[in-house]
Amino acid sequence: MQSETMEKVKVNEERCKGCYLCIASCRKGAIRLSGRTNKRGIVTVAVDQALCVQCGVCYTMCPDLVFEIL
Ligand code: SF4
Ligand code: SF4
Repeated sequence: MQSETMEKVKVNEERCKGCYLCIASCRKGAIRLSGRTNKRGIVTVAVDQALCVQCGVCYTMCPDLVFEIL
């Protein structure tokens, strides 16, 4: 049986430019600020894997290909 918190979406934080379109577009509210800063000085985002339903909207919305659906 799969654990509810298994990794569903990978986040390549170094690619993030901080537009936060993903946070606005995730209907499950699974994307939040990570509290981490990447090398570009951007506060990155993180996916709550327990809330994520792997719909792929973040993958489609992100202009910088930060998300990988697993
Ligand atoms: S849409 Fe992509 S670039 Fe914009 S904040 Fe989200 S992860 Fe970062
Ligand atoms: S795959 Fe869907 S539910 Fe999961 S973080 Fe992306 S937009 Fe949200």
